[in-house]
Amino acid sequence: MAIHMLPPEVASQIAAGEVIERPASVVKELIENALDAGAKAITVSVEAAGQQLVEIADDGSGIPADELALAVARHATSKLQSADDLFSITTLGFRGEALASIGSVASMTITSRPAAAAAGARLRVEGGILGRAEAAGAPVGTVVRVENLFYNVPARLKFLKAETTERRAIDTLVTRYALAYPHVRFTLRQDGRPALQTSGNGNRREVLAALYGVDVAQQMLEVIFVEEVASISGFISPTSLTRSHRREITLFVNGRPVQDSSLTAALVQGYHTLLMVGRYPVAILFIEMPPDAVDVNVHPTKAEVRFRSSDQMFSAVQRAVRRSLLAHTPVPEVGSIGQQMWAVDGGQLAVDGGRWTVDGGKLSVDGEQSPISPPSTLHALPSSPLAPPSSPFAPLLRLVGQLAATYLIAEGPDGLYLIDQHAAHERVLFEKLTGARRGAGENGLPAQSLLQPVTVELPPASARLLEEQLPILARLGFQVEPFGQATFLVRAVPQLLTGMDAAAALRVLVEDFEEDETPLQAEIEARLIARVCKRAAVKAGKTLSVEEQRALLTDLEACQSPRTCPHGRPTMIHLSVDLLERQFGRKGAR
Ligand code: ADP
Ligand code: MG
Repeated sequence: MAIHMLPPEVASQIAAGEVIERPASVVKELIENALDAGAKAITVSVEAAGQQLVEIADDGSGIPADELALAVARHATSKLQSADDLFSITTLGFRGEALASIGSVASMTITSRPAAAAAGARLRVEGGILGRAEAAGAPVGTVVRVENLFYNVPARLKFLKAETTERRAIDTLVTRYALAYPHVRFTLRQDGRPALQTSGNGNRREVLAALYGVDVAQQMLEVIFVEEVASISGFISPTSLTRSHRREITLFVNGRPVQDSSLTAALVQGYHTLLMVGRYPVAILFIEMPPDAVDVNVHPTKAEVRFRSSDQMFSAVQRAVRRSLLAHTPVPEVGSIGQQMWAVDGGQLAVDGGRWTVDGGKLSVDGEQSPISPPSTLHALPSSPLAPPSSPFAPLLRLVGQLAATYLIAEGPDGLYLIDQHAAHERVLFEKLTGARRGAGENGLPAQSLLQPVTVELPPASARLLEEQLPILARLGFQVEPFGQATFLVRAVPQLLTGMDAAAALRVLVEDFEEDETPLQAEIEARLIARVCKRAAVKAGKTLSVEEQRALLTDLEACQSPRTCPHGRPTMIHLSVDLLERQFGRKGAR
């Protein structure tokens, strides 16, 4: 083929591909335009996950009628004059590409009216072809209506993810902006159903629940960090709340959502030694810094930025997280914490390998002192004497008793065993449920009706997810029905879990769901079962009767993999007679 210039429509479709990848990109660009226009209220309406319609209405500054055609031209912007301005940019847009890009891959109608104008005007662009601007009655502000996205780019259509995935991406995106701009009132409707409504009263915590659900939102720790390089605010999860992926870590830099693996790593490092391997926090951080300290023009979708002093930024994020964690260090107390990685007894604190130390009554983690002093003197335990799992089966154990209402002490053929009652019970329930599930085949697990059905309200995105999972849940013995917008009625729980908090069970089922994954059904089931068992298992801090202790040991002995919980944490620690003899100086060097 001889070299030739591409026809302008083709060139602009190619360029559009960089900016507009999926329906959520349209939503992002249009929200950013509305924010740049100083909107106080932004309403987003979406149909068919954005493929049929994305409409965004704002009450911002509006576009004068005679500038409408320019607004949709490529590289036309009101936000930048010269390249130097790039380093003093205070708007979200500056490339002048969004409207042109959207217009070339969809049917777009812009209706707008500046406050000073007596009437509004409307312009339609279809597959990059401009119509004529005409007068239109309109309130002050701008409405951009985008229909039939990618109708002229069939290749792009093919690459779109399932509608539920796209819808969820939009839910999450809008909610994150709502959190970043708490003074703006956001409304999101998907297929006519309300998916998000914020008040615009400036309260971020109120929005938090829409993003993470009530349970998680309540647990999130606030970050407030002001230093010269940057000020950082937002929310991070306590160490007890983690995910198996980094997708729930969101960073905003100067009001724009960015992906930055280095800052994400800094955030995770802030949790240094407090998280288990392969676990990540849930977090949303808003980083504010002088515009000249960050280059925002490194990516067409503006999703990446470059910092002038990236090392300083790294350390700032790390310290912000660290400080917040230390400031919120829960006062160690059996029962109220304990679930995940804490265990305290009579002033002894062990956190996953015992890296916490205490000096002069001050609790410190890796040298950084906590502003809170613990109620009693704490000692770090010696490094973990965990025995390597020698045989898959549990040794035969003789119960000695319960310690700190958290551990069972047992004697085995070769020394002492400390058993984490929660982890052990989790394992026991997991094997019982998976065993029963296998036996039940297509019939599903036997269910136990609740005396009183329980209603549970979920964040919109989770609600949708749950709706898709109802058949799987039914097979596991959960009888759940939709009951209004994002509310569900739990009628029955699996017989093996009779007595567990049904609402809590339902919430854990939808959290932390791996997006875009279509594992085998058996895998999904196993994962859901593991999650429910974790919630249902007896907590640390609960005193067990001798019969209960004994039953737990017997059940654990009967397990296929008794030495770890379904999530891979050890259920038992072995102190061998040999080790005891060394420790007591009866044998070998000290
Ligand atoms: P950019 O945001 O990078 O400038 P866009 O293509 O997104 O480029 O928008 C082009 C121009 O149209 C903007 O610079 C702005 O002047 C105007 N504009 C777009 N959307 C709005 C809106 N919602 N309210 C007011 N003006 C808008
Ligand atoms: Mg823009």
